[in-house]
Amino acid sequence: MKIHEYQGKEILRQFGVPVPRGIPAFTVQEAVEAAQKLGGPVWVVKAQIHAGGRGKGGGVKVAKSIDEVKDKSEAILGMQLITHQTGPEGQKVRRLYIEEGADIQKEYYLSCVTDRGTQRVAFIASSEGGMDIEEVAHSHPEKIIKVFVDPATGLTQAQGEELAKGVGMPADSVAQFIDVCQKLYKCYMDTDASLVEINPLNRDGKGNIIALDAKFNFDANALFRHPEIVAYRDLDEEDPAEIEASKFDLAYISLDGNIGCLVNGAGLAMATMDTIKLFGGEPANFLDVGGGATAEKVTEAFKIMLKNKSVKGILVNIFGGIMKCDTIAEGVITACKAVNLSVPLVVRMKGTNEDLGKKMLAESGLPIISADTMAEAATKIVAAVK
Ligand code: ADP
Ligand code: MG
Repeated sequence: MKIHEYQGKEILRQFGVPVPRGIPAFTVQEAVEAAQKLGGPVWVVKAQIHAGGRGKGGGVKVAKSIDEVKDKSEAILGMQLITHQTGPEGQKVRRLYIEEGADIQKEYYLSCVTDRGTQRVAFIASSEGGMDIEEVAHSHPEKIIKVFVDPATGLTQAQGEELAKGVGMPADSVAQFIDVCQKLYKCYMDTDASLVEINPLNRDGKGNIIALDAKFNFDANALFRHPEIVAYRDLDEEDPAEIEASKFDLAYISLDGNIGCLVNGAGLAMATMDTIKLFGGEPANFLDVGGGATAEKVTEAFKIMLKNKSVKGILVNIFGGIMKCDTIAEGVITACKAVNLSVPLVVRMKGTNEDLGKKMLAESGLPIISADTMAEAATKIVAAVK
């Protein structure tokens, strides 16, 4: 789960990581009031969306008077902000963050992420903050410093020093920098984050370290023990189809292709997507209906897939283990009738009650194309959407 920058900064503040003073605003009027409350002489008007690269996209503007705060807020609020992380359609700005302007002397990069390879929390730091870290990693890999934290000790003083040295932190700011790293580690662990990224981490003219941006991702499997983080959820920033799917306990992720896939089991869903691609097609979604899907759940799954106007055909691929093929057949038939299915549908099922399921589909009078193997199913759906 992702949250907004201003929410991330609230969390950082709680853990003692220095951040500028700021106030979120939902209207231009609120933005002006926030600026008055903060006092000048410089403010930054920041679009709040769940994507980075806002500065480059025109979503972060410096204002030097209350009038400028008003003008910039009017320009940014409601805009369709396009960044390299939003996709070409962009994301509508519904919230602003009005922040006091910081005195930027040098921008660093600092992040914490779970590294699967070492099974440890990795700290990643760079002297090249403020810009795309992927770009730095690509063109100047030597400027990316990584340390891996032993869970028994936490981030040690020596590791903090290694990071400080690696980014070339001036001596008078090293102690503060290490303190920020250690607080960040505690924040990361205590909130069950899967990513905390501060880009930029600023060193100001007085040598003080302060976080100017905050990006958090949280481990969805741990959210049950963090109601305070769940409260930060902003449904406006999430895919409506994915929200709808989560209500029915369906694991659904929208993709760019035109073949809808309905599968039981995440592994089989991935294998199905791979097979579609192998035969020259593009999946429109990942959809795992789970082990105990009912006819109602399958109907909802069809409705969700078909809301995506790019879907030109559907492939149902079921392994009947706990799930019986006749249950799926019943679900598919009900769903086809309920949604008045108008795109080609290929169904492949194997396993428990396979014959019964196939018979039900054949006798349903619906134009369902059946297939025996995954290769055959993929060939047929790819041909059908061409
Ligand atoms: P994004 O990463 O989405 O572009 P940031 O919050 O990193 O958004 O802001 C982009 C840039 O704007 C920063 O790299 C920094 O130079 C500047 N900036 C952000 N917040 C402030 C602030 N409070 N004071 C001064 N400059 C800021
Ligand atoms: Mg940033």
